[in-house]
Amino acid sequence: MKKKKISNNNLKSLDTTLNNSNLEYSNITIIQQNLLKWYNKNKRDLPFRKDKNPYKIWVSEIMLQQTRVSAMLSSYYNFIKELPDISSLANASEEKVISLWKGLGYYSRVKNLKKGAEYILDNCKGVFPKELDICLMIPGIGSYTANAILSISFNLPFAVLDGNVKRVLSRLFLYENNISLNSSHNELQILANKLLNKEEPGDHNQAMMELGALICTPFPNCNTCPLVTECISYKNGMQNFIPIIKKEDNRISIELRFYLLKNRNNKLLIYTDKNRRFFKTIPSLPFLIFGKSLSVKYEEPNKFRNDFLNSIKSTPRYLKKKHSITNHDITLSYIMETIDDFSVFPNDSIFIKLEELEENFPSSIAKKLLKEIIEDSLF
Ligand code: SF4
Repeated sequence: MKKKKISNNNLKSLDTTLNNSNLEYSNITIIQQNLLKWYNKNKRDLPFRKDKNPYKIWVSEIMLQQTRVSAMLSSYYNFIKELPDISSLANASEEKVISLWKGLGYYSRVKNLKKGAEYILDNCKGVFPKELDICLMIPGIGSYTANAILSISFNLPFAVLDGNVKRVLSRLFLYENNISLNSSHNELQILANKLLNKEEPGDHNQAMMELGALICTPFPNCNTCPLVTECISYKNGMQNFIPIIKKEDNRISIELRFYLLKNRNNKLLIYTDKNRRFFKTIPSLPFLIFGKSLSVKYEEPNKFRNDFLNSIKSTPRYLKKKHSITNHDITLSYIMETIDDFSVFPNDSIFIKLEELEENFPSSIAKKLLKEIIEDSLF
């Protein structure tokens, strides 16, 4: 069998590549047709696909960043029930919006979603715009989200490129560059644009994402793939080695030490601190960050954290499970103390019962801490 392969260099001009018949337009047509046929037969019955409402697509796309479909569905139903359109989201309180996002994490996403809704209400009469340049001005909407909404809701010819689509494309065309690089992102976007079915861009994009989620997974199931006859990686026996992903080693190992400071009523201090590294926008238990080579710039120092918390010298208890936030590998620990002198506490301190912790400090870390504290029977 003749091997077809795109080398690292020949993506510089994809038109040339296509014209050189490495990848022929006829192959592209077959891929588009087989993909759509498969999608129409096999797509999952998901609520945000039922109508083409741009608001619902938008909410679902933001929820699906970092979260699997199965994990976001109940939050999605609840969110749309409570805030069914752009104006209800724009006019909702931040507390309400955050409470509806509970369990999904990354709360800055929902804050940006709300800011985006406010922007559309103020600048676009509350109607989601159909123009790409205007979409990209909406807070929280980048090119992936804009392309997804415009293609799925309005059938406009913009190709999406998320992690699933990158995997499918790089295997289909035996793309051998490191897909973590920005330059690769741009080249794969060119490939995605070329492969886009201009007649059915919305379904085509969803089909690519669905194929990546269901068949062309990290361990691909090529025997059931509708694109197997056109897949260059498969023809070369390379499907298990593509895509090539080499992340820069920029992980930072730190310890987050939480302080469970109880008043005489056995209630715990939580507070909001905009100058700390994590949980800038929600209340949390007080904590300190320990780790090698953490500079002052890493976190603005303040009196409460640097003097008061640092002066507590009790031995911390360590949680068995590790945690991660962005590029941080986190060891979790906690110290419990009863405090008499409240003068050092931040102004916006509030006191809550232990069982109210998750509700007031909505995060997976709070969940882990609570479980461990209850298991340790320390409270
Ligand atoms: S044949 Fe295999 S590697 Fe190629 S696109 Fe299909 S599932 Fe992915």
